[in-house]
Amino acid sequence: MTASWVEVPEGSDFPLANLPYGVFDSGKGRRIGIAIGDHVLDLYAVADAGLVPHGAALQDVDLNGFLALGRSSWHEVRGRLTELLTDGRTEIQDAGIDAFHHQAEVTLHLPFTPGDYVDFYSSIEHAINLGRMFRPDSDPLLPNWRHLPVGYHGRSSTIVVSGTEIHRPRGQTKQEDEPPTEGPTRALDIELEVGFVTGPGNELGVPIDADDAGDHIFGMVLVNDWSARDIQRWEYVPLGPFLGKSFATSVSPWVVPLEALAPYMVPGPSQDPEPLPYLRTVGDWGVDLQLEVGLASVAMSEPDVISRNSFAGMYWTMAQQLAHATVNGTRIGPGDLYASGTVSGPDPGTYGSLIELTWGGRDPIQLSDGSQRRYLEDGDTVALRGWCEREGLPRIGFGECVGTVVP
Ligand code: MN
Repeated sequence: MTASWVEVPEGSDFPLANLPYGVFDSGKGRRIGIAIGDHVLDLYAVADAGLVPHGAALQDVDLNGFLALGRSSWHEVRGRLTELLTDGRTEIQDAGIDAFHHQAEVTLHLPFTPGDYVDFYSSIEHAINLGRMFRPDSDPLLPNWRHLPVGYHGRSSTIVVSGTEIHRPRGQTKQEDEPPTEGPTRALDIELEVGFVTGPGNELGVPIDADDAGDHIFGMVLVNDWSARDIQRWEYVPLGPFLGKSFATSVSPWVVPLEALAPYMVPGPSQDPEPLPYLRTVGDWGVDLQLEVGLASVAMSEPDVISRNSFAGMYWTMAQQLAHATVNGTRIGPGDLYASGTVSGPDPGTYGSLIELTWGGRDPIQLSDGSQRRYLEDGDTVALRGWCEREGLPRIGFGECVGTVVP
C-alpha cells in the first residue's frame, strides 16, 4: 500500500486507508475534515482551492449535504483525497492554504445532523442475556427474534458527540412491593454499539432492497446507547424503551466510510430459520471489527478494559436492518443513524453492557482503584474503542467514543 506524505504514527486509527469524515472547529467555525494520522485535513480549505469535486457539499457545517450526494460522489471524493494525500503534496502546498490542523488542537462536533435514530437489538447473545434476566420464567428469545431484526425508533435530538458530559437522568422507578418513586436513576448503564449513517435515502412508499443497502449506507460510528435500567424495566411494557434510553446517545466523532471497511467485510453468521426473501442478501455484510469498553473512576488516570468482543458475529446485518426498517415504505434520509443494539459475545468478558457484565448487579466488577461497580457512579468515564485489523492490511480504527457521568 502506498504511504501518505502526511506522517501517520505507528498504530494510529487513521492511516491513508481509513480517511474518516468529521466536523471540527479550529476557531473559524464548523468545517468538514478528514482524519489522517494525528491531523485533520480541512476540506473547506481544500474545496476553496478547487482541489476536490463536490466542493459546495464539503463547505457545509455538517456532513448531511455530502451524504445526500450518494455513493458515486462519495467514491469520487475519496479517490481524489487519497490522490492528494499520496501524490498531491505540491498541489496542496502550491495552493497556499492552511489545510492541516492537529486533532488535539481542534474541537470535534457531531459529524452529521441526525434526522432519525433507530436502535436495533441484533446480537443474539445480548438478547438471550436480557431475556434471561427480564423474563426468567420463559424462553429468553421472544418468538419474533429470529425472524426479524427487532428495533425501535429512538430520539435523535439527544445524540451527542464523544466527550459530551452525560447527566444522570431522573425518572420513575419501582422497587418490588413498593409504590413507584421519582428520582435519579440508580442503574445507569452503557450499551456498546456500532451504528451506520445513511445517505440519500428513498422515496416515501418505496422500500430499500437489502441488496441495494450499499448505496444507502455511507459509513459507521461507535455508539454508546446509555441506558437507565431501573427506569427501563418499569416503563418498557408493553410499548418498549422510552425515557430510560432517550436522555443521551454518544457517537464517535469520525464516520468511517463503508468503502474503507470493505476489506474487512466477512460473511454474517448462519441464520436459522432462513429469513424471508426481503431479508436475504448476496455478499458479505458482517464486519470484522474488534470492540473494547474502558471504564475509569475519578481516581483512575487510565481506564480498565472491562469488555472485549467482535462485531463480526452480529446475527442481523446492516443490510437486513435497513431492508427491514424500510419494508413498510418509511422514508430514510441523509444523516439518519441506525445503531446495532448492544454487541455482546458468548462469554462474560465479551458482554457489551454492565447489566450483563455484573449479571443484573449480582456480580460487581472490581476496578483497579479498589472500588467495585454494579452500575455507573458519578464521575465515571466510559471509553469505547473499535478497530479492524487483518494480516496484510493496514489497521483502521474509529477513534474513541467517550462520556463522563455527571450528577
Ligand atoms: Mn441500545
